[in-house]
Amino acid sequence: MFKAILINKDEKGYRADLAELDETDLPAGEVLVKVLYSTLNYKDGLAITGKGPVVRAFPMVPGIDFAGEVLDSSSPDYQPGDQVILNGWGVGEGYWGGLAQKARVKAEWLIPLPKGLTPKQTLAIGTAGYTAMLCVMALQQHGLQPSAGEVLVTGAAGGVGSFATMLMSKLGFTVVASSGRPEESAYLHQLGASEVIERASLSTPGKPLAKERWAAVIDSVGSHTLANACAAVKSNGAVAACGLAQGMDFPTTVAPFILRGITLYGINSVTVDKAKRISAWEQLSQLCDFTIVNAIAHEISLAEAIPLAADLIAGKIRGRLIVDVNR
Ligand code: NDP
Repeated sequence: MFKAILINKDEKGYRADLAELDETDLPAGEVLVKVLYSTLNYKDGLAITGKGPVVRAFPMVPGIDFAGEVLDSSSPDYQPGDQVILNGWGVGEGYWGGLAQKARVKAEWLIPLPKGLTPKQTLAIGTAGYTAMLCVMALQQHGLQPSAGEVLVTGAAGGVGSFATMLMSKLGFTVVASSGRPEESAYLHQLGASEVIERASLSTPGKPLAKERWAAVIDSVGSHTLANACAAVKSNGAVAACGLAQGMDFPTTVAPFILRGITLYGINSVTVDKAKRISAWEQLSQLCDFTIVNAIAHEISLAEAIPLAADLIAGKIRGRLIVDVNR
């Protein structure tokens, strides 16, 4: 038997509980993994609370990422004892995920544990850090250089925002962090932000074009914030958009695109090909300063993940929550 968070939706309603499962309960798959760490991401918060239509089949074990050790494998790519990680692929949404002590998944969804990182360090970075890295890679591919000027990071005190702030600052960029939590100013400066601005300055309806300020933007918030960010991007600058913490809408005009030639990159971490995943994780292992990562990530137990899901969706959690599923 092993422990897992199990989400059910039936005549008794929508609920997430800590359950005892048997290995035979696990879905079919090529690789059985002993999960060591998972994390609580925004999507997991939506799944556990039922605040968003994330779960596509019931009962469901949430958890869109995990790190662990292979127990059994029918795939030639993995042997018992191999250390592996998984991010995305619909795990925790349509397939049972990582908020459990065991998981059985397709071999192609796994990648080996990144060199130089422990399972705990990898999941301290987790899907949020990996998504931030994909945003950074999109801006690098755009040709962005630190000399281009200030980079805006929105939702900066959240998981993706914290990593985006740290990574861009490590790469020598001047980062302006937008946050609704002025009390997290010292934290954001510790991550490398040179200035912290109040998110209210971006979150209400603005003009189609504003004074040019940002060389680039990493946005995990969407809605008016993304629209206002685009309106103030300098000519030929770029925006990497990955989230919807404020809303899924995007109330903008074509003006920044056709008058300033800005580019909007959409980032989807779920179905990235294996080579790009490995490259993103290699860069994360080189760029992450673990004194800072340890300030971003806080460890919780599997049982604690259930009540903390609501706090995460309410924007009350600073940085990231790493889940030790065996505690
Ligand atoms: P968090 O909850 O950790 O962070 C979100 C942050 O957004 C909050 O900390 C807060 O930052 C800000 N925020 C929250 N509510 C509002 C609001 N109403 N208006 C403006 N800002 C708000 O989540 P994550 O960082 O894990 O994820 C952020 C987003 O990115 C989510 O929408 C998530 O679904 C998405 N995501 C997408 C991925 C992809 O592949 N595209 C992968 C991972 C995440 P502050 O307090 O600093 O203002």
